[in-house]
Amino acid sequence: MLYKGSPASPGIAIGRVFLLEDEEFCAIKRTISKEGIRKEIERFKRAIVATKNELNRITNKATKHLSKKHVKLFEAYLFIVDDPVFKEDVISRITKGLVNAEYALQEVTEKNLKVFEKIEDEYFKQRGNDVLDVSKKIMRHMVGAQKKTLAETPEDSIVFTHNLTPTDTITMKDENILGFATNMGGKTSHTAIMAQAMEIPAVVGLKDITSHVKHGDSVIIDGTEGVVVINPDEDTLANYKRMQQRFITAVKELNQFVDLPAVTTDGKKIVVASNIEIPQEIKSVISHGAEGIGLFRTEYLFLNRKTLPSETEQFESYKNVVEKIFPNPVIIRTVDLGGDKLFHNVEINKERNPFLGLRAIRLCLKHPEMFKKQLRAILRASAFGNVKLMYPMISGVDELRAANAVLSEVKQELKSKSIQFDENIEVGIMIEIPSAALTVDVLAKEADFLSIGTNDLIQYTLAVDRINEYVTHLYEPLHLSVLRLLKNIINAGHRAGKWVSMCGEMAGDPSYTEILLGLGLEHFSVVSASVLRIKKEIRKTNFKAAKKITDEILSESSRDLLVKKIKQRKSLTS
Ligand code: PEP
Ligand code: MG
Repeated sequence: MLYKGSPASPGIAIGRVFLLEDEEFCAIKRTISKEGIRKEIERFKRAIVATKNELNRITNKATKHLSKKHVKLFEAYLFIVDDPVFKEDVISRITKGLVNAEYALQEVTEKNLKVFEKIEDEYFKQRGNDVLDVSKKIMRHMVGAQKKTLAETPEDSIVFTHNLTPTDTITMKDENILGFATNMGGKTSHTAIMAQAMEIPAVVGLKDITSHVKHGDSVIIDGTEGVVVINPDEDTLANYKRMQQRFITAVKELNQFVDLPAVTTDGKKIVVASNIEIPQEIKSVISHGAEGIGLFRTEYLFLNRKTLPSETEQFESYKNVVEKIFPNPVIIRTVDLGGDKLFHNVEINKERNPFLGLRAIRLCLKHPEMFKKQLRAILRASAFGNVKLMYPMISGVDELRAANAVLSEVKQELKSKSIQFDENIEVGIMIEIPSAALTVDVLAKEADFLSIGTNDLIQYTLAVDRINEYVTHLYEPLHLSVLRLLKNIINAGHRAGKWVSMCGEMAGDPSYTEILLGLGLEHFSVVSASVLRIKKEIRKTNFKAAKKITDEILSESSRDLLVKKIKQRKSLTS
């Protein structure tokens, strides 16, 4: 069985499915045919029997070892699972709504939970949790998952789950997980970016893949093409093993570029730096020959915890990176929480549109103490190497001024205490919101450099959520509107005498290198694993010829023609 999703991190992994239960109770809706009704009802009934058996086992154990109160709890669970109204409700939704059993169960559970929420009595209100817990058990039996954590994975595991957080992904390398596949997500989600940083093959946006796999199934994931093959036959397996070998050899061959400069065939020197998510990536930055760190995302210090990191903790962490990368520069980006990176200590969890909400610089300006603490830590680290500071999500000049006002305050404070820092530290901004892209001429007067965040710029320009698997096909870096904005940013930045970098995922995809050079881009910042691929591409390209081709491409009004033309160019050069 072959499934297609979005390629999130290149490479091929061959192993066994490790189905990870999602913390959220969330099923994907699948429309079924009338003929499929019986099968879905059967699946639901089998899951009910399995849940009852499980609960009976637990009740027996509880009777021996626990108090009466606990035994009563499990008896109540048995009562819920056996409730005829509940069972009828699910079956009726499958039959009338022609939906899969998971989705019907979710709908009924949500309806029942709403009833509990309205109850005033606290004790009875809390019984809603029991209903949810029982439904989760039934769901688990239905999809064949067991409650597991990533720490329990056997050696050849490929994780299949509804969604992963960027923090889950960080731990994967330590757990020797070969790769992962998720129902949710797009290729520029932070989970995908993290997978590339960890060099773990991944496919995301597979919609309901978790309902099609069983724990222990043999599986191949191709993170380069975005393909998942479940229970492959001998020929397919042999074929993918050969492809896997070719991929490994190609990666090794790239090593010849480590010490070579990123220079075009007509002698234009280009800078290729690295993006990092966590300090552990420094080794990879150095081994791939990157010219510094063009984007140091600092969210890792804030995620997966309930309290804010102290100034000292931040300072030590930044200083360590800065010293190791010296004399090359490190661009430290102030924290970009919100969107798909949620921190539990600030009020960003309940937003309806988190990507349009209190994110990044907006959140920092709303919490100046948190912001100042980070600025102090970055400034102090600047005394130990070559540091530049960068603000994310700047939407206009007032926001930049507001951030700089806080920075001035912090600088004054450090000076008054005679604490060392680089007084001439360069301060740049991310250009990732169309309002900033259209006013670069104004912003560039007050920023030392610009860095284009295409991951967000594309989502905001095209109104396509970067983590929503249902609109991935509309997420098009080559859309004429995007190319025009890029041209405007690069030209306006250069006219103002500022250097312009790109640190979004578009910079790390070799199929766009020629067109980006043609747009005049001279600084690339990409995930370490892509540094050599981009260097190789730059060394094949003629800077002047690329400009001509790009001008020609920009005159195309149709997106399809444009994409076709670029793909044709690509097949000629590769
Ligand atoms: C971007 O938006 O392109 C970017 C580099 O920032 P992030 O992916 O962290 O939002
Ligand atoms: Mg961004």
